[in-house]
Amino acid sequence: MKSTTRPLSQHKRIALVAHDSCKQGLIQWVKKHQSALTSHQLYATGTTGHLLARETGLIIQPLLSGPMGGDQQLGGLIAEKKIDMMIFFWDPMNAAPHDPDVKALMRIATVWNIPVAINQASADFLLTSSLFEQRIDIEIPDYEGYLKERLG
Ligand code: PGA
Repeated sequence: MKSTTRPLSQHKRIALVAHDSCKQGLIQWVKKHQSALTSHQLYATGTTGHLLARETGLIIQPLLSGPMGGDQQLGGLIAEKKIDMMIFFWDPMNAAPHDPDVKALMRIATVWNIPVAINQASADFLLTSSLFEQRIDIEIPDYEGYLKERLG
């Protein structure tokens, strides 16, 4: 499939997700970057979102809980181009009951080429990148073009 681009505005829609053993780590990370995050629109899977809102006071749009469909819901939002970036602190040491959903979420984030951080160090890099506060274009699959070619 050919590719096209879509803009990521300077005010980004950022999804935050953490597996249980990583939730404290994500809370600490969000507190560390709180001033940079306040001007963006934040989304999070259910439990992560409620904890983050309670601990930081940030306004966070909660999705369903990950194991209850939240990862799939988030994947759907990414495919609809309604999420611009994802910070996902996933647990590499324990299998989750919703591993297939986690894999699907990672896959769809890769398909739609959004910036993703999977641990604290990569999240630091992402947030301190000069691109973070800029409007940028990212490359995405040109499905509309593909459909036109297929349907004539
Ligand atoms: P939770 O989901 O924020 O509802 O715990 C996260 C996940 O496990 O994907």
